Amino acid sequence: MKIDTKFEIGQNVFPIVKKNKREDYICPACSGKGVVKLEDGLFYDCPKCEAVGRLRNPVPSKWYPLADFLEEEIFIRKMYFEVISTKEDCVKVSKLVYHINIASQYNRLEFYDNKNLIYATLEEAQFECDERNKENESTELV
Ligand SMILES: [Zn+2]
Repeated sequence: MKIDTKFEIGQNVFPIVKKNKREDYICPACSGKGVVKLEDGLFYDCPKCEAVGRLRNPVPSKWYPLADFLEEEIFIRKMYFEVISTKEDCVKVSKLVYHINIASQYNRLEFYDNKNLIYATLEEAQFECDERNKENESTELV
């Protein structure tokens, strides 16, 4: 049996992920000093940033190329068909699953073929992220 797949085993790929990226900024209460001067003239640990001087702001979830978070090369490690049957109608649905190789905490990531989350180039991956993020922005405004 010959099966057409979008990618080959060993091919470098650029998956996209939805993440809540955190950005930090200077604490407005202490201007980044980590301490505040109170009425008694003494300096105290800033209660807003807990003396760190910076605050972390969760940015709403957005799509990013996974490569933004990783140093390693990402490539297809293996792929297989997953067959799912639902009890009600006994219909069997097969889905192609790509396993990608990454030596970090993402090692066991699986990507389903039907979700369009893997791209052959970083440019395509970035383009798709931008498109998806645009859609999110427009629905958030409504
Ligand atoms: Zn502060």
